[in-house]
Amino acid sequence: MKQIILSGDRPTGRLHLGHYVGSVKRRVELQNSGKFDEIYIMIADAQALTDNADNPEKVRRNILEVALDYMSVGLDPKKSVMFIQSQVPALYELTAYYMNLVTVSRLQRNPTIKSEIKLRGFESSIPSGFLNYPVSQAADITAFDATCVPVGEDQMPMVEQTKEIVHSFNRIYGETLVEPKILLPETNVCQRLCGIDGKAKMSKSLGNCIYLADTPEDIKKKVMSMYTDPNHLKVSDPGCVEGNTVFTYLDAFCTDEHFEKYLPEYKNLDELKAHYRRGGLGDVKIKRFLNAVLEDILTPIRARRKELEQDIEGVMKVLEEGCAKANMKANATLKRAKNAMKINYFDDSENNITDYFKDK
Ligand code: ATP
Ligand code: MG
Repeated sequence: MKQIILSGDRPTGRLHLGHYVGSVKRRVELQNSGKFDEIYIMIADAQALTDNADNPEKVRRNILEVALDYMSVGLDPKKSVMFIQSQVPALYELTAYYMNLVTVSRLQRNPTIKSEIKLRGFESSIPSGFLNYPVSQAADITAFDATCVPVGEDQMPMVEQTKEIVHSFNRIYGETLVEPKILLPETNVCQRLCGIDGKAKMSKSLGNCIYLADTPEDIKKKVMSMYTDPNHLKVSDPGCVEGNTVFTYLDAFCTDEHFEKYLPEYKNLDELKAHYRRGGLGDVKIKRFLNAVLEDILTPIRARRKELEQDIEGVMKVLEEGCAKANMKANATLKRAKNAMKINYFDDSENNITDYFKDK
């Protein structure tokens, strides 16, 4: 069986560090591993509209921002098909058929949907498109025959929902759709990176992000304002590492090489944590180190983005060609699904409905 990746992001803002450790970095590694036959990366504008219907300009403006982020972190149009969801109509046709296989109460039980409804104040009036987006995501995943979906932890219920739809569809209409597997980041910290406020997950909608394209000044300001341990008042006080945002970020981003380069008096993060716990290590020092680590990762990404921004037409072309390839693949799956459902009345001789009248 072909090994195929589908993953994507909503163009509700530029990509942030949560996207980077939760999904994007993994996609680049998988892309470069050479182990995958096809890779599809989707800018989910239609999904973004399910809770931004009154702000289409925000979604529109961020399409190229996300595409620039993709290419600047190393997604390569020669290896990965980058495309825009709304330009692939087959996805909506599949969604319509899948909706018949899912109950409203099942959608209401989806834990990610539940918390997003709360966050967006949709309790009293949920847009039906929003409630239904897990079904539309099942269409996105299955349209590309994806076997592997590299995403953050908030996407677990979506991939579960997709599997349920695949099982129902295949049971009713015969073996047709491919069942996907979720690929989560290896560590808990990266599966759901918290925001710089240390509270909820880093999310565009919460304004607690460090963006990949932030300037060095912005990043420094954000790092310096990070929540640490409120009881660590004097440098000599013993400090707590758990729940300390700076250490959470160091867990997610720093390597032993970073210590060698920027803080050689420690071998690794365990040594730094031990010193912080003992007391005698100030917050400013750990924040400066985190800032250096983030700059080490983001400086080359920022530079590539600058280059790509010089040829924005080229980026548009990548998306246009990506949409054409995505349409070919999704149309083929749609045809297969409709054949299985026996509703390809004109294209498929086996589905000819005139047969019903032959014996009359
Ligand atoms: P929005 O607030 O508009 O929903 P978002 O910041 O949650 O935006 P999405 O576009 O919904 O971002 O998510 C895209 C991908 O990034 C998904 O795979 C998701 O799991 C992952 N992701 C988003 N935020 C984080 C995070 N803080 N930690 C780890 N992964 C994340
Ligand atoms: Mg989200």
